[in-house]
Amino acid sequence: MIQLRDIDKYIDKRFQRTFILKGINLDIEEGEFVTIMGPSGAGKSTLLNILGFLDDASEGEYTFLGETVHNLSEKKKSEYHKSHIGFVFQAYHLIDELTVYENIEMPLLYRKVKSKQRKAMVADILDRFNIVAKKDLFPPQLSGGQQQVVGVARAIIGSPKLLLADEPTGNLHSEQSEQIMDMFKKLNDDGVTIIQVTHSEKMAAYGNRIINLKDGALVKEDPYNQAVES
Ligand code: ADP
Ligand code: ADP
Repeated sequence: MIQLRDIDKYIDKRFQRTFILKGINLDIEEGEFVTIMGPSGAGKSTLLNILGFLDDASEGEYTFLGETVHNLSEKKKSEYHKSHIGFVFQAYHLIDELTVYENIEMPLLYRKVKSKQRKAMVADILDRFNIVAKKDLFPPQLSGGQQQVVGVARAIIGSPKLLLADEPTGNLHSEQSEQIMDMFKKLNDDGVTIIQVTHSEKMAAYGNRIINLKDGALVKEDPYNQAVES
């Protein structure tokens, strides 16, 4: 599903080049549940953003579903993003002025899904995630855990093949975190490929593979796919 070849990400400032990612080579198969770990500042968010088309690599080749991302037009990239990728953020990134229902519906509006179908899709996901009773509330009226359930609902309403999550449980208590990870596990069982960034070994254990990043480079995966102490 994903091939990264010699990916660099750097920032040029005056005469100084600062590398954020250097020489990243990575293959991720459809159906994997991958966790990216590593110290703060290692480049985890940057890598996730590149994978999710939210940022561009400076050098190297990113192939997603057989397409070289670099060669896609902005329009095609945006279409690809909308139809194949869902994103979950640590701070939820919901729109506080919109109801739960409207937040979840938003990606369908961008995709110009017809009203009747939108209603059916949102109703289905509210039911699946057990939040029908919250549909007319606004995000600030919900707990963090509930807001993240809405964040996940919004991310997957368009049935993406790939779900990316940047510290999805970073602001949550352990019970809420486990609820979100259980949702991820179910989605992965249903065939959604998941890549998450987390600092938590417990959350990483829900996945099937851990990738360690340090100073912008991948630390070699050990044969047991265990986290490397950092
Ligand atoms: P960002 O993704 O916004 O760059 P960081 O990964 O830099 O956030 O994390 C910010 C700070 O919070 C760091 O000091 C990091 O070690 C700490 N942190 C984040 N999540 C956790 C966690 N689950 N457990 C412990 N520390 C964490
Ligand atoms: P992590 O998620 O592992 O904490 P990040 O990907 O957020 O790491 O950031 C990696 C490093 O790159 C950090 O030192 C950060 O300050 C720097 N960085 C990220 N984005 C930019 C940017 N747009 N301009 C300058 N520095 C950046």
